[in-house]
Amino acid sequence: MICEDGRMELANSVLSPSQREHALAALAEQEFDVLVIGGGVTGAGTALDAASRGLRVALVEMRDWAAGTSSRSGKLFHGGLRYLEQFNFGLVREALKERGLMLEKLCPHLVHPIEFIYPIEHRIWERAYMGAGLFLYDTIGGAGAVPRHKHLSRKQVLSRAPGLSQKSLVGGISFFDAQVDDSRHTLELVRTAAAYGAVAATALKVIGISHDESGVVTGADVKDLESGREFHIAAKTVINATGVWTDSLQKMAGGSSDFSVQASKGVHILVPRDRIDSEVSVFVRAEDSVMFIRTWGAHWLIGTTDTPWEQGLDHPAASATDIEYLLRNVNRVLNVELSVDDIDGVYAGLRPLIRGKAGATSDLSREHAVETSVPGFTTIAGGKYTTYRVMAEDVVNAAIDDLQSRGLAQDIPESDTQNILLIGATHLTEVQAQLRSNGKTLGLSVEGIDHLLGRYGSMTRDLTSILKYRPELAQPIAGGAGYLRVEAVYAVTHEGALHIDDILTRRTHLSIETPDQGLEAAAEVVQIMGAELGWDQDRVDRELTHYQDRVAAELQAHVAQTDSAAMAARNQVQDIRLTTV
Ligand code: FAD
Repeated sequence: MICEDGRMELANSVLSPSQREHALAALAEQEFDVLVIGGGVTGAGTALDAASRGLRVALVEMRDWAAGTSSRSGKLFHGGLRYLEQFNFGLVREALKERGLMLEKLCPHLVHPIEFIYPIEHRIWERAYMGAGLFLYDTIGGAGAVPRHKHLSRKQVLSRAPGLSQKSLVGGISFFDAQVDDSRHTLELVRTAAAYGAVAATALKVIGISHDESGVVTGADVKDLESGREFHIAAKTVINATGVWTDSLQKMAGGSSDFSVQASKGVHILVPRDRIDSEVSVFVRAEDSVMFIRTWGAHWLIGTTDTPWEQGLDHPAASATDIEYLLRNVNRVLNVELSVDDIDGVYAGLRPLIRGKAGATSDLSREHAVETSVPGFTTIAGGKYTTYRVMAEDVVNAAIDDLQSRGLAQDIPESDTQNILLIGATHLTEVQAQLRSNGKTLGLSVEGIDHLLGRYGSMTRDLTSILKYRPELAQPIAGGAGYLRVEAVYAVTHEGALHIDDILTRRTHLSIETPDQGLEAAAEVVQIMGAELGWDQDRVDRELTHYQDRVAAELQAHVAQTDSAAMAARNQVQDIRLTTV
């Protein structure tokens, strides 16, 4: 089906096992205008930007979509209150504009307003200082998408958030930001890029960058981590969107770069909603920075930390020190203290921070940097989730300049992604109304329909089509926190899941939303997945054992005091993709 926009072919957005085979063949045989390396939000957004301008695009990711930082963020589309404190109004304005676009137009099914209370402890200066900041936050740009901030008395704060400590509380301010399911959003970007013709595949690791005799980049050598096969992808220009892995790709490409990317670790914890008595999220100042205690389904999502990271990049692990820091700071504002026993989920992510090198000439005043360090090789690095669309536009513009400077492209249209809805946002209102009125005939409750609409938007129709001939899939997954069996099927048939970890960690968030880290659900998910993919018993056992081992290794990491001890525990188990070849 071709959407109203005429350039988008929804059938191409299906990431099925057979699509992956077709993609691998196309990647090995064809020459692309642009090869994008990295399937996080930046690479996915870049692929969509380039494909929607009519370029022939390839997108490769070495693990799963969003398996790097883009599934481990704070899950906020926000302007960044801390940039206001640094007087960086341009950055705040840009981010707030993006927040408004996501909420109102591009993906309203995945991005939702979220209300915070900032508790005030100092009557005069703190209310004036934060009030002025939040007034700016409301007015600086795109702020019409959410309600404006409101001053609250002590009584009003405590009636909405009785769980806040009353000791030094004198009042509060309510304000809004926006929350996103990051890994689902990145996945939908990939699927939208595919709908515009991008050829996308996971488990393809770039192991070398190729050059012609004059040193111009001509593509990349990749290894399929599912089969072990290696091949070359030919491309007129290559975009490096690999987040904290940027430097290693830069090294493969050669040349010299003005910046490098340094990783900084951030940890979040999840505790059940009944452990904090509040109907609203809370924004607090912590020892070193700020912290958010925010609603996330049946949980509070609490974070984050910010510490330099010197360990391996593939599986950053939280240590006991990180968890103690979060508990200490959150307990400062609560009247009933949380302990480690209250925690259901923990995850760690690595921020890709750009550092200018001595003698650098690039403008590194923004949060992100774009650089063509070798003809045919452009890097985009830094930035934040919220501004991925702007980053994508900037790097595609630079890649087009590179193509044009070598006479390989002529008139390429300007970026139009501010008008391109993600696939689940197309015909959204119509599908919502239709499914809410006939959902019961499919064996789904009102909550079940809303659960699906909030995760898949108008793509929910694909899931209900499956339910028409397989009604038993409307049942919840045992131990699966409300996720339905049909979602595990859909993850395989439409969303490119190749391993149970892809479903338990990124298509759903069972690995952090259940007290057993998804172990009970894994037993059912592996059966559903195995039936779809024709796995034998040996493969079923291998997937399950790998997941169980991964959970055990992470739990061991969480009691280690240092980063290196936590990583020694976590690294006992490798990524399943790397162990299958
Ligand atoms: P990644 O998501 O890491 O993607 C890079 C991808 O490249 C990876 O998937 C990796 O597997 C792949 N790759 C690497 N090497 C290769 C190779 N050789 N071949 C093929 N593929 C390769 N931003 C916000 O706006 N809001 C927030 O609330 C927020 N909170 C955050 C909280 C934390 C704790 C952290 C760590 C970050 C947060 N951020 C937030 C920042 C935001 O998450 C990141 O800026 C963003 O996700 C980075 O995306 P990326 O695509 O650049 O990198």
